[in-house]
Amino acid sequence: MTSSNQALFEKSQQLIPGGVNSPVRAFRSVGGTPIFFKKGLGSKLWDVDGKEYIDYINSWGPMIVGHAHPDVIGAVQAVAANSLSFGAPTGLELEMAALINKLVPSMEQVRLVSSGTEATMSAIRVARGFTGRNKLVKFEGCYHGHSDALLVKAGSGLLTFGEPSSAGVPAEVAAHTLTLEYNNTQQLKELFAKAGDEIACVIIEPVVGNMNLIVPHMEFLQTLRELCTQHGTVLIFDEVMTGFRVHLGGAQALYGIKPDMTTLGKVIGGGLPVGAFGGRKDIMQCLAPLGAVYQAGTLSGNPVAVTAGLETLKLIQVPEFHAKLAAKTKKLVDGLVAAAKEAGVVFSAQSVGGMFGLYFSEQCPTSFAEIMQSNKDNFNLFFHSMLESGIYLGPSAFEAGFVSAAHTDADIALTLAAAKKAFAAVAA
Ligand code: PLP
Repeated sequence: MTSSNQALFEKSQQLIPGGVNSPVRAFRSVGGTPIFFKKGLGSKLWDVDGKEYIDYINSWGPMIVGHAHPDVIGAVQAVAANSLSFGAPTGLELEMAALINKLVPSMEQVRLVSSGTEATMSAIRVARGFTGRNKLVKFEGCYHGHSDALLVKAGSGLLTFGEPSSAGVPAEVAAHTLTLEYNNTQQLKELFAKAGDEIACVIIEPVVGNMNLIVPHMEFLQTLRELCTQHGTVLIFDEVMTGFRVHLGGAQALYGIKPDMTTLGKVIGGGLPVGAFGGRKDIMQCLAPLGAVYQAGTLSGNPVAVTAGLETLKLIQVPEFHAKLAAKTKKLVDGLVAAAKEAGVVFSAQSVGGMFGLYFSEQCPTSFAEIMQSNKDNFNLFFHSMLESGIYLGPSAFEAGFVSAAHTDADIALTLAAAKKAFAAVAA
């Protein structure tokens, strides 16, 4: 580990809890010192000592066109010169709402916020206000940001109260959240048979990117849609990660399932803080100032952040953008699977659009319980060998990876050469 990183981390820990502003950055899962970056360009990052990395985190998703794309940077610089914030409407917000509505037509009306957490928290409040119900259903292993109602784990039985998964969340708040197993259609049916008419909303990552990558069973998603319709429950697709990444129209376009509401983040800010929630007009009209559900934000719709998002969304609309991104990502995972096989390491991998999952297990997992069975020690060995070779992967066996349009065939070849060495280290 380079000395400047080490020195910065030691100083940071004096002033910032754990030395980081978001826990996964602390490398606790893999061990070692987090890297402090100073520059990014295209697919590459440089740390404070000037070491170069190929970046497969992409700021956890937003940098889909690569770092410091000249169109995005140019547009941000131009709009910033007209003031950084007004706290009043701008035409840019309307442009963004219209574009979201065009690309994700189920979002008939949209409101902009400043993070994915705000988007999911607000979508749930609207769904509760609209239905007049309190119960919320989510799935084990999905992450929807850090609001109180979502930091909840399952109680002991299907209908028992949820329990806080973080200190500081009141049990009374967690009690309204029910947590089911992802891809377990039978459990879903049982819950709706017992309590369907009490459930305000179900929130789901339509492709999960927060317990590594987990792909949904079509039958599971279809049953979920049908049950929500039958019981007047609002179905919320949390597309903060999948939006504009697995398909131009998100996972809902990829799988042909229309949710009642959608939450967005990451790519729509192009690296600056933007989130959005939206959906059926009759639901969204419950929001203040029209309706009784309160929601607000000083910097919501910020002109500079919205501009970064608009420019990014322009760039991803070029023909074949997503097909090329998906092909590139698949080439990477296929190469990794082949390299592991050659080294005799138990490993599997898959991709959806520009997201990928790497697992030290025989088969690609389909649930939280299955992903927990994968070999974490092997992942950690692999991770550190890759990092040494300048390949920056998510610092945990339970995170998805991201490829950008800026990644080249040469980047993938270098990554696979590094992987060959890393798998040999795992096999040793
Ligand atoms: N929803 C999903 C699916 C996410 O992946 C995340 C963040 O990773 C969030 C919500 C929260 O977004 P933010 O970190 O912008 O608050």
